[in-house]
Amino acid sequence: MFKDNGDCKKCRGLCCRYFGLPIDTPETPGDFDDIRWYLLHKGTEVYVSDDDWYLNVKNTCKHLRPDYSCTIYETRPRICRQYATTKCDITSDEYDHEHHFYSAEQLEEYARGFLREKRRLAQLRGKRRRARQR
Ligand code: SF4
Ligand code: SF4
Repeated sequence: MFKDNGDCKKCRGLCCRYFGLPIDTPETPGDFDDIRWYLLHKGTEVYVSDDDWYLNVKNTCKHLRPDYSCTIYETRPRICRQYATTKCDITSDEYDHEHHFYSAEQLEEYARGFLREKRRLAQLRGKRRRARQR
């Protein structure tokens, strides 16, 4: 769909079928519950890459043609112009996310472990602080 080096001809316009938005890294049960709400909607996923969290909305651009070309190629948005086939979803190996949540249940399981560990570390810090004060 972009500077096609041949790879796009084999692809089905994957990069035009979703968009990702950075979201705040969750720290509290409330934060996780907000993200759970995203995941209750159809066509949403959440992934973590380099410790940054993203909402992935699977919704095809209205300008993607059935042959996977772009109906507004000459005036396509900057984000499309800057996207390089050499580092795209299909050709890059950089899409090996640390976490990828496809459902609210998956996120809840991760949140339980994360919050348990956070509480454990907080208790440990508290014990050490009290021991130093004695
Ligand atoms: S995902 Fe990559 S190969 Fe597929 S259309 Fe987009 S740029 Fe081309
Ligand atoms: S504007 Fe064109 S290149 Fe950009 S996402 Fe839509 S179909 Fe793809």
